Amino acid sequence: MQAINQLKTWLQASLSAVFFGGAGVSTESGIPDFRSEKGIYRTISTYGVSPEVILSHDFLEEKPEIFYDYYRKNLIYPDAEPNKAHLQLAEWERQGHLAAVVTQNIDGLHQKAGSRTVHELHGSVLRNYCLRCGHKFGLEIVTESDGIPRCPECGGFVRPDVVLYGEGLDQDVISDSIRAIYQADLMIVGGTSLNVYPAAGLLQYFRGKHLVLVNLDETPYDSQADLVIHEKIGEVFGQIQLD
Ligand code: NAD
Repeated sequence: MQAINQLKTWLQASLSAVFFGGAGVSTESGIPDFRSEKGIYRTISTYGVSPEVILSHDFLEEKPEIFYDYYRKNLIYPDAEPNKAHLQLAEWERQGHLAAVVTQNIDGLHQKAGSRTVHELHGSVLRNYCLRCGHKFGLEIVTESDGIPRCPECGGFVRPDVVLYGEGLDQDVISDSIRAIYQADLMIVGGTSLNVYPAAGLLQYFRGKHLVLVNLDETPYDSQADLVIHEKIGEVFGQIQLD
C-alpha cells in the first residue's frame, strides 16, 4: 500500500510520465502473455515446433497455413476489453500527467481504452495489408476467412502488420518511443518480462527522476528501479485516483 501511495505521489507531480508495457498488461483482459505460467510459451504447440519458430518471418513464408492456424487460435482476441490498467493510463493522459504509452502489445487495447499517444513497437493485429498491392485491411480479413487470407482486390497474400521473429522494428516508432522515454520525468514499466530485445533496451534512454516496475514476476531490471511492485497491474493502477 505504501508503494502504491508512493507511485501515486510521483504520478500526481508528473507532467510527462511514460508507460512502457508488455503482455502482462492485457492478462487481466483475458489475453494470455507469453512467458508466465499460463503463458502461450508454456503450452506445447500441436505442430511440434516452438511458438518462436511459428511466429517468425521465415515460417510465415514457408508454411503460411500453419502460421495462420496458430495465429488465429493464440493471438487474436476480438472480444477482449480494456482492463483497469489500460483505462487508468488513458485517464492519466487526459489529466495531463502521462505523455505516452510505449507498448510491446499488439492487441490495440490501449487505444480502445482511450489512450491517444501510443507507440506500438510490435505493430497491431488490427492492421493487415496485402503483400502484392499494399491494400490495407482491419482484423476482419483474418477473422472472417479460413487458411491464408487473400486480398479481395488483387488476390495477393494478406499479412498482419505485426513484427515477427526475424523482422526489424519500424524506425519511426523506435524514434518516437525513445523521444517519449528520454523526455519523461517518470517511467513506469509494467507487465513485461523485459526479455524481448530491442524493445527492453529502450529503458536505457530514461533520464528522469523515478523508475517504477509493476510486474508479477521479478525482472532483470528490478535492482535498477526506485520502486518495485510485484502485484497485478490492473489492481495496482485501479487504486490510484489522481486529481
Ligand atoms: P512476457 O510474456 O515475456 O512477460 C509478461 C510479464 O508480465 C511476466 O513477467 C508476468 O509476470 C507479467 N504479468 C502477467 N500478468 C500480469 C499482471 N496482471 N500484472 C502484472 N504483471 C503481469 O511478455 P512481454 O515482455 O510483453 O514480451 C512478449 C512479447 O509477446 C511482446 O513482444 C508482445 O508483443 C507479445 N505478446 C503480446 C500480447 C498482447 O498483445 N496482449 C500477448 C502475448 C504476447
